[in-house]
Amino acid sequence: TVTVGVLALQGAFIEHVHLLKKAVEQDASDWDFIEVRTPEELARCDGLVLPGGESTTMSLVAARSNLLEPLRDFVKVLRKPTWGTCAGLILLAESANRTKKGGQELIGGLDVRVNRNHFGRQTESFQAPLDLPFLGETEPPFPTVFIRAPIVECILPHQKGVQVDEVEREDTVVAPSRQAKDAVAEAATADSVEVLATLSGPAARIATQGRSISPNEELGDVVAVRQGNVFGTSFHPELTGDARIHAWWLRQVQAAVNKRKKLGQ
Ligand code: GLN
Repeated sequence: TVTVGVLALQGAFIEHVHLLKKAVEQDASDWDFIEVRTPEELARCDGLVLPGGESTTMSLVAARSNLLEPLRDFVKVLRKPTWGTCAGLILLAESANRTKKGGQELIGGLDVRVNRNHFGRQTESFQAPLDLPFLGETEPPFPTVFIRAPIVECILPHQKGVQVDEVEREDTVVAPSRQAKDAVAEAATADSVEVLATLSGPAARIATQGRSISPNEELGDVVAVRQGNVFGTSFHPELTGDARIHAWWLRQVQAAVNKRKKLGQ
């Protein structure tokens, strides 16, 4: 059995549990979906969903529940598949703007900076049919729901490892230290951030009433990204009844579990 958790401190967690169940209707016995409120529950999980809601509240409650460090370990050390939607995406970002001073701790794992509430207030929430090529080229558009949604406004240089070219430059001067070698190895294996979906074109213009809002003129608004096992979406698939993204993500979880087993971990 593969155990998938949904962080259940605040926000739309029940909806995720429902859609996860819907996604595996055919082979439900292979899966166990649990609500996560404690480090012990988190430790049982092979994959984790961070729901939408309010990211400041969620991180404060996580800190009080002694979950912040275990969550960081889960995402960045154990590298188990984690998916954040909306507020969950904000928590998975290495950097976010408009965070109150000392008010919000992020989990990190995605080398991106997000712009919170990019589209404005609650009343400026909208729905838009969006092509998601990662689901398959022939799939019909996905009914995305944006509620005070963030976007990924830029991709940051990898946080941990040293950039390869920096190390190489150093190598020409002094013999490479063990540390530098490790850094090269890490930088070489570090997963890069993939942009999986952008909101642009007619759907976006109608949804946002024609306003030009993108900081990335040529790219559009980045609303889905993946870096290794960390996946984030600006919108709320759990509020749609459409389980295609949940089904897709569960296939990634299954693949990660199979890989760990093969490596004997
Ligand atoms: N803007 C919210 C935040 O900052 C997220 C909104 C949502 O998850 N629907 O946490």
